[in-house]
Amino acid sequence: MRDVQPKASHFISGQYTHDTSAPEMVSLYPFTGEVTARLHEATDAEIDAAFTAAAAAQKTWAALPPVERGRVLRRAADILRERNQELSEIETIDTGKPIQETLVADAESGAQALEYFGGLIAAVTGETVPLGEDFVYTIREPLGTCVGIGAWNYPIQIACWKAAPALAAGNAMIFKPSEVTPLSALKLAEILVEAGAPEGLFNVVQGTGRVGAALISDPRCAKVSLTGSVPTGRKVYAAAADGIRHVTMELGGKSPLILFEDAEIENAVSAAINANFYSTGQICSNGTRVFVHEDIHDAFVKRLAERTATAKLGDPLDPEVTVGPMVSDTQRQKVLACIEAGKEAGANLLFGGDVPEGPGYFLTPAAFDGVTDDMALATDEIFGPVMSILTFRDEDEVIARANATDFGLAAGLFTRDIKRAHRVVAQLEAGTCWINTYNLTPVESPFGGNKMSGVGRENARAALDHYSQVKSVYVCMGDVEAAF
Ligand code: NAP
Repeated sequence: MRDVQPKASHFISGQYTHDTSAPEMVSLYPFTGEVTARLHEATDAEIDAAFTAAAAAQKTWAALPPVERGRVLRRAADILRERNQELSEIETIDTGKPIQETLVADAESGAQALEYFGGLIAAVTGETVPLGEDFVYTIREPLGTCVGIGAWNYPIQIACWKAAPALAAGNAMIFKPSEVTPLSALKLAEILVEAGAPEGLFNVVQGTGRVGAALISDPRCAKVSLTGSVPTGRKVYAAAADGIRHVTMELGGKSPLILFEDAEIENAVSAAINANFYSTGQICSNGTRVFVHEDIHDAFVKRLAERTATAKLGDPLDPEVTVGPMVSDTQRQKVLACIEAGKEAGANLLFGGDVPEGPGYFLTPAAFDGVTDDMALATDEIFGPVMSILTFRDEDEVIARANATDFGLAAGLFTRDIKRAHRVVAQLEAGTCWINTYNLTPVESPFGGNKMSGVGRENARAALDHYSQVKSVYVCMGDVEAAF
């Protein structure tokens, strides 16, 4: 297995650094539980150094023509792709996700974000507003130093989805990865410097929520973008409100996937598998409430069980493996508790939910049938490989039930009726909807949540609005009138 121990814990002002007297953090390989890296939490002095470095770098960076900033980001995208094998192995070792996933969905997705925003930024211009002889023009300005805080499920993707629009718009960033997956963000920091970004433009500091909270409360933080759970979102949003900081909140979900009676069954089963078992179910936008029309229920359940039985669990570094371990035993225990609660509530466990013998934090993909809207299985985010199947009869009924949640991250539906598809999507309370597919998140498409699932959008042009502010300049061409 590749040695993933970094030179030091943090990347500040273009250098690896750490204070070995700070508390230690360890990284584990979820397949064996062995320690793969030892790091230290950031001290207050290191956090201060990151802000000082970011402020200095941001000034020179923002003064560059956008096309030059874009060139650096596009070069970083190329390097990410050149090093995809290494970065994918690091991500697999840190998260436990199968290498067949990380090779296509992690650093590659990050590269697409850097490429997209690197290409777009030179085309983002202000407006001119005619007012007779006078006029107003607008300038889109960076915010300053932005703080990014990541979850552990897609570490380098999250770092890139935040860094790419932030840096393109002329900001600097200090990024804190999840303490569970600290490694790949350091590689992104290295790569940005190699691509020509000024030292200090993108800094990585490690630590627990304490370090995240210290970053947000620093007066030099202009914005925070969090990817995490709703409870953390509440705390981070409140801390940001104290300093009137800009925020983006990418939070949790309990998204509906609706399969109408005319759904093409094999595609619907594929989507339900992707929406519940990809990344061992550890995806925010997962369609974990699968509403199946009564007429196709039996056919759907039969094919789902047959196809899930072919899943291959094992060492995630093995390219044949399709289901890896969960990220940690803590996360597995949380999910096991949800499965027990589901059984006690009277739902019918069709398959899975077992802890196989041998190494690794494995949990076999599970599906519950006969789930009702009031069960915790249907109301709470589980963040593991647990599908809940609910049945319905009528279109209006399923829309109302799909929307009866505080979350609003995503939703999907399968039907061959094009009018029904658009009619239903128009009524679903979700930031991202899919028709006849699930969980595709191209960088060209805005991504983010409604209701408790979040504030703001990542990806697409929309993300730039959240990393910049508009200055309006009024130009007077005549004389100035005054009362006296
Ligand atoms: P989490 O426990 O909420 O943690 C997210 C990040 O916030 C971590 O880096 C965490 O540090 C940090 N943090 C914790 N308390 C903080 C505080 N008071 N101030 C500042 N930062 C703080 O989430 P997770 O367990 O890592 O990830 C799973 C959750 O993320 C799920 O709810 C999932 O739906 C959500 N998610 C959402 C999206 C999206 O795009 N909408 C994408 C992926 C995941 P530590 O790691 O040290 O605790």
